[in-house]
Amino acid sequence: MPNTEPPNPAMCGRLAPVGPHASDTWVPDAPCPSRAGAAAETPRDRCCDLPEPAATESHACPSNGRAGRKVGTITLKALLLPPALATFEPAAEYRYCPDPACDTVYYGGGHEYRRADVEVPVYAKEAGDDVPVCYCFGWTRRRLREAGPVAAEQIRGHVQAGRCGCEVNNPKGRCCLGDVHHEMRPH
Ligand SMILES: [Zn+2]
Repeated sequence: MPNTEPPNPAMCGRLAPVGPHASDTWVPDAPCPSRAGAAAETPRDRCCDLPEPAATESHACPSNGRAGRKVGTITLKALLLPPALATFEPAAEYRYCPDPACDTVYYGGGHEYRRADVEVPVYAKEAGDDVPVCYCFGWTRRRLREAGPVAAEQIRGHVQAGRCGCEVNNPKGRCCLGDVHHEMRPH
């Protein structure tokens, strides 16, 4: 923040707004108009939404302070291990933290759920070759690498045919195709 304090406190009542953009009205984050109809979509439509929306939500992960994405309660119900699920609050709003360096997977309802609370290894947070990338059809990093581009085509075909169940299989509660393509690129 630039220092906008007037040099002399006695002048403050007469000071004009400072800077070329002083009259700009700051608008807090609002839902993107193109996402405004998202509530009317079915969970399957949302799960197969290929481009991931930017994390504009202001609700930050309690562990790393960064904004997480909203995740459906069905994802937590499907993937939390019993002791964690026993503290789940169905009416709460939950978010998923995608940060690889953060151990928290979900937060909300006054609780944080960590990697050890989730039934499956979380792709974004685990580096191993046997970690799933496509949870619905069982593609690990290793299998993807061995199969090559045909794997992505096969997965895309299943997604387009409406066979994926990302909201209950993938810890992020969304389609894996972006992650599959990420794994396919040399890195
Ligand atoms: Zn986090």
